[in-house]
Amino acid sequence: METKTFGAEAKQLLDLMIHSVYSNKEIFLRELVSNASDALDKRRFLALTEPALLDKDTPLEITLKPDAAARTLTLSDNGVGMSQQEVVDNIGTIAKSGTREMLQQHKKDGKGDAPELIGQFGVGFYSAFMVADRVELVTRRAGQTTATRWVSTGDGTYGIEPAEKAEVGTTITLHLKPVDTEDGVQDYTNTAVLEDVVRKHSDFVTHPIVIGEGAEKRTLNSMKPIWARRESEVTEREYAEFYRHITHDWGSPLKTIAFKAEGTFEYQALLFVPEHAPFDLYYRDGKRGLQLYVKKVLIMEQCEALLPSYLRFVRGVVDSQDLPLNVSRELLQENRQLAAIRKRLAKKVVDSLVQLAESDAPTYEKFYAEMGPLLKEGIAADGDNKEKLLTLLRFGSSAEPGKTTSLKDYVGRMKEGQEAIYYVSGESRQVVEQSPHLEAYKDQGFEVLFFTEAVDELLVSHVDAFEGKALRSVSKGACDLKTPERDAKTKEEMSHLCEHLQRALDKHVKEVRVSDRLRTSPVCLVGGEEDMSPHMERLLRQAQKGVPAQKRILEVNPEHEQIRALDRRLKEKRDDAVLKQYAELLYGQALLAEGSPLPEPAVFARLVGELVIRAEHA
Ligand code: ADP
Ligand code: MG
Repeated sequence: METKTFGAEAKQLLDLMIHSVYSNKEIFLRELVSNASDALDKRRFLALTEPALLDKDTPLEITLKPDAAARTLTLSDNGVGMSQQEVVDNIGTIAKSGTREMLQQHKKDGKGDAPELIGQFGVGFYSAFMVADRVELVTRRAGQTTATRWVSTGDGTYGIEPAEKAEVGTTITLHLKPVDTEDGVQDYTNTAVLEDVVRKHSDFVTHPIVIGEGAEKRTLNSMKPIWARRESEVTEREYAEFYRHITHDWGSPLKTIAFKAEGTFEYQALLFVPEHAPFDLYYRDGKRGLQLYVKKVLIMEQCEALLPSYLRFVRGVVDSQDLPLNVSRELLQENRQLAAIRKRLAKKVVDSLVQLAESDAPTYEKFYAEMGPLLKEGIAADGDNKEKLLTLLRFGSSAEPGKTTSLKDYVGRMKEGQEAIYYVSGESRQVVEQSPHLEAYKDQGFEVLFFTEAVDELLVSHVDAFEGKALRSVSKGACDLKTPERDAKTKEEMSHLCEHLQRALDKHVKEVRVSDRLRTSPVCLVGGEEDMSPHMERLLRQAQKGVPAQKRILEVNPEHEQIRALDRRLKEKRDDAVLKQYAELLYGQALLAEGSPLPEPAVFARLVGELVIRAEHA
């Protein structure tokens, strides 16, 4: 027998399992049954195109065989099985995306035993080591004649060798640890215990889980699809178990949505909103889609056509009474019935999120923190639900430091006469909170929303208004606040200075004007009505080279001492070189204050130094 070591991550997970103080150890059976059930589905799928892989008369099933004398429990399935290489890849290593990140996070947080965390990644198979000190697996892949034996005590290595096996499928023998009820280890050679655990965790598995032989043979699970049962008769715990079965998550769903469509086109849907964003949410080849059943038979594991892409965090099942059993992926994309289901499901999910946001704000906040960006994606993609999705968004706001607000609440707080919803965009809350663009708005008690995520600005191009109020950037166009003290006279007086600055800064800005929005800062940069924000421009540049730099407008604060001093200097016609330096200084200040990088930081630093020295000598 050849001895191999587990992959680094697999070993870490194994250690977590073996030293787990998690008391609910019986779930090992759920995990092994779930793997067996998956393997049976896979064999059935394969046989659709390669009928030789499954004899019509062979019943697909999962068998439990306890042996009290030997203290073993054997679990067999006649599913697809594994080749030797698959055993090494699937059991000896963990290839799942996200596992490494999860383990690193786990370490960083200094958590000892965190079952929810462990479970999120489907460490399923290793949970056997919570109850067994030695695990033996013999498996034969459908279509192959030889089998593979795999043995491990979970100590970091495993043995592997070719073996004989009469039937295709997998047999796992657990050499059980001593019973220790305090530690949550029950007697898993006791039929009553097994029956209880199966009922509790795996009742809905669609393949029979059998025990006993000949006349004694019994099926432990009802196999009744949970979605076909009346909602009022299914407990929350049962829904949660089913959720874990299909997601390989160990936690509970944040929200369960069950419904039945009746009439000419019948189907049942059972959807779950998970508590945490799946790790592969933003990976191109991440797992997405719902399970599609036709008349209680699973026909597709990940059917993407059932939900719009932005709802890809939703997990669940759709069982249709009317689709053909041999429906292909291509056909599904064009199927009109499916398009109708998708529309209906999207509405259901959005409605239930709206309801959650209204009835349980803290839970909704948790959801939003994880999945918020996807809802914004939805606003661009799902015209039907756009209005509702808008009510689901949350933004930081100048009204309440550290908190977020909905657009609805914002509108509720709008001052009399306020016509638009104001927002400022930038890199982070910290940056925009201090932005000079906000000064007049804050001063006059207007609330400004913080758009600090990449998608926020794209949002604006898809949203004309919310409850009749347009979205308006505080750093674009003319400021719509009246500032009586800055009347035409001031502007007239300052026109000479503006012209001068314009000439000096010609290569940076397209216009210099007196500001209506500044109160305490000397200058700021604003965009034209239709311009991109500098934040957006930077993002675009990162994504694509050759985006031309936009020139913006420099606004000056006529009451600020720095501006007045410059104006005096100009009127006294003092040295031009210094005036030029002052202009550059102002431009740099405007960039820094809004969180934009300086084009030539070293030049700016030198300039500041020179000005300090000059002030000392004056
Ligand atoms: P997951 O089920 O989340 O993929 P597991 O640790 O439970 O993670 O299983 C790892 C992999 O091992 C499975 O994805 C599957 O490829 C393989 N596997 C486990 N049990 C079986 C089985 N009974 N038959 C065939 N393959 C199996
Ligand atoms: Mg599993």
